Amino acid sequence: MKTILIQGGKLYNGLGDPVKKNPGLIIKNGIFQQVGVEENESHQLLSDPKVIKINATNKWIMPGLIDGHCHLTFGHPDWSPIIGDGNVQSAELCTLRAAENAKSVLMSGVTGISIPGGAWFTDVAIRDAIKHGIIQGPHIFAAGRFISTYGSIADTSPTSIESPHLGIGVLTNTKEEMLKEVRYQVKNGVDLIKVGDSPWGDEQMISYEELKVITNETHRRKRKVTIHARGAGSTQIAANAGVDWIMHADYAREEELEIVAKKKIPIMPTISALEVVCNYGNEHGVPQSIIDKMRYNLDQSIIMLELAKEFNIKLLCGTDSGNSPIMKYGKYHALELDMLVKYAGYSPEMAIKAATSDNAITLGMEGKIGAIAINYIADLIIMKDDPSKKFSSIHNDGNIQCLIQKGHIVQSIFGEI
Ligand SMILES: [Zn+2]
Repeated sequence: MKTILIQGGKLYNGLGDPVKKNPGLIIKNGIFQQVGVEENESHQLLSDPKVIKINATNKWIMPGLIDGHCHLTFGHPDWSPIIGDGNVQSAELCTLRAAENAKSVLMSGVTGISIPGGAWFTDVAIRDAIKHGIIQGPHIFAAGRFISTYGSIADTSPTSIESPHLGIGVLTNTKEEMLKEVRYQVKNGVDLIKVGDSPWGDEQMISYEELKVITNETHRRKRKVTIHARGAGSTQIAANAGVDWIMHADYAREEELEIVAKKKIPIMPTISALEVVCNYGNEHGVPQSIIDKMRYNLDQSIIMLELAKEFNIKLLCGTDSGNSPIMKYGKYHALELDMLVKYAGYSPEMAIKAATSDNAITLGMEGKIGAIAINYIADLIIMKDDPSKKFSSIHNDGNIQCLIQKGHIVQSIFGEI
């Protein structure tokens, strides 16, 4: 693996520090070996033909994005309907689609994704294929099917069918079934257990005792667990049962957020998907009743975010890309950063931190990925425009001029790869 020297440009390090002049980066053996290069050393490297040199003058550098909530197997967004809606397809076709989706995600500057649920164990296979260099894609942290009760978000099939493997949820209605499903999924290679509460948070579909069985067993087996919890009640039991992060929490207010803060559990609001449907749902033929519902939940989430700030709750960054034909791969992975600035009072540097080093927990790689700092995995993007002006523009055509993953140049306008 060749050594890479990157000089010039402005740098966001992903740790929340103010943007600064790039002090010089040396990437070697897949990691940032040096951040800060002295002049004599730089001369030596510049004259070494074996070193790849990148001049990022007038460009912007940041760690590769981590999308903490992205689905690869719900179906290709251009191919509606999505799999969870009963679209019958084979595991084989699902896997091929997912491989293509993973590549699109990577090429848009996203070097890591956490996948909270999908059909079969496709995401586990995609993760391993990427790890072994068979296909290209981001680092993947994969869940299996959502652990659901009757009426939960992923219980979409008629009761006569219960939960077929092509669905994204598996029905478990007793503690014994939940325990067995956790063990079954871990045996099949998942990194993450995904639990589903009600779709919109109006009702609570799982009890504290049930969730505690899931979190205990998952943690005993050294995996992580998250929950789709829009409701106040499910947010509260999620915090008390000790999930690793809570998704959404739309209806959580002071009483619940106080517990979340005390337990130091991060919330991943994932409001990008709501924002996109509110703004573009009409163009895509989404029924007005669904758009209205999403607008309502978005408003609830905005109230939650204002309170979360008071409680100093850490926010993670996820977009739910791939959850519907509207949430296209490579288009909205950076939108959540704009949302954190707009609704949660985050500075641009803090928003980047949320989507990089803070989001490392969603890959199970805390302290190892998501920052441009010594010994971190060398994932970075070099952009034409300052991302903080409008984060969602990161994915604009031609903006990403260089993409490096694990110290390998994946794409670059700077010549040598
Ligand atoms: Zn999702």
